[in-house]
Amino acid sequence: MEENINILKSRGIKVTTQRAEVFDVLAKNKGHLSIDEIFGKVHKKYPMISLATVYSIVDAFKSHGLVEELTILPQKLSYSIRVDIHHHLYCRKCKKIFDVDIPMCATLGKKEVNGHLIEECQGNFYGVCKECKE
Ligand SMILES: [Zn+2]
Ligand SMILES: [Zn+2]
Repeated sequence: MEENINILKSRGIKVTTQRAEVFDVLAKNKGHLSIDEIFGKVHKKYPMISLATVYSIVDAFKSHGLVEELTILPQKLSYSIRVDIHHHLYCRKCKKIFDVDIPMCATLGKKEVNGHLIEECQGNFYGVCKECKE
């Protein structure tokens, strides 16, 4: 928790107990959580918190570069605290989202494509994960 508070401070975010708790939930869950899932976990500890508050906290984290927003399921955005460039696989069987690490391609290394500046990049793979494949 202490470490997480320092991360928030270092990004210039004013630390409140609710913000610290939301970040803690994201940090403890290695995977990717939707707003509803984050809300469910935070709400257990802070029954007073509203879904709208969780939304705005996550939004602030996003604009400070503290969380990645995954669009692999457009109808269900999810968030994780891993913010380096990486890609995702959605397993159609178990419905889990996995981080996949593939070597950085030449285009991404340059951060530019056809004269356009690349700020963010996510590759989405859809298929069957290795556990479900067996
Ligand atoms: Zn699976
Ligand atoms: Zn990820």
